[in-house]
Amino acid sequence: MLLKKIYFSAVCLLPIHIAFAQLPQDSRRAGGIAVIPITAEVTQIFYEQSPVLISQEGVQRYAVFGIPMSAPLGTLTLKTNHKPIEIEVKPYQYAEQHLSVKNQDYVNPKQEQLDRYAVEAKEQNDIYRSFSQSTWTQLPSFIRPTAGKFSNSFGRKRFFNQEERAPHSGLDIPAPIGQKVIAPADGIIIQTGNYFFNGNTVLIDHGQGLISMFCHLSKIEVTKGQHITQGELLGLVGNTGRATGAHLHWGMSLNNARVDPQLFIK
Ligand SMILES: [Zn+2]
Repeated sequence: MLLKKIYFSAVCLLPIHIAFAQLPQDSRRAGGIAVIPITAEVTQIFYEQSPVLISQEGVQRYAVFGIPMSAPLGTLTLKTNHKPIEIEVKPYQYAEQHLSVKNQDYVNPKQEQLDRYAVEAKEQNDIYRSFSQSTWTQLPSFIRPTAGKFSNSFGRKRFFNQEERAPHSGLDIPAPIGQKVIAPADGIIIQTGNYFFNGNTVLIDHGQGLISMFCHLSKIEVTKGQHITQGELLGLVGNTGRATGAHLHWGMSLNNARVDPQLFIK
């Protein structure tokens, strides 16, 4: 009842494509998401090799497109089975972070550690590139995976002991060791494991190329292949892998683009 009320009042004030509760926020920047109304003729959308998620909200369908961190500013074109879709990627200033990491293995890993990381990175990239048919037509809603303040950490340019590294691809939520981490939405556990940088990790496939990742856990409570529903326990907060303190690293990937998880939370 309450939802209906919000929906009707929102329709009066907002453009229709952001009036629905389930869709992520539209933010057209590198690492952001474009929520694009599409016509009935459009049934398939691709960005480079990756299929793009489509959600049905009432009578309207939407492309929900993850804009890669590496996307240049300006016009970006999505291919479809009908007319191409163009979106404008706008400038956005991400913060910088200078970290002092004491364990040299994480700053300048040894060859055997680099070899281990190469195998793990390939495994994770294969998961991000996967596209499973969804059991839903309307994108599921998301809730916070653990309690705590969201740090403004997604997209940060990172320097480890003055050396520039890849921008931060997830959202860090500082929390005590042992705090519960729950599934933010329904899905299937696509992988669990202990990784060099990410520590104990769980990955969930939510369908149509939407993958979530939870890292640095002290304990994993799920197994690969398991169906999971929103709110179910995934594991416990920890500081395994390359972590400067206890926190949850929450990553979201759409069409193989790492995007800001905050856009999924209202
Ligand atoms: Zn992180």
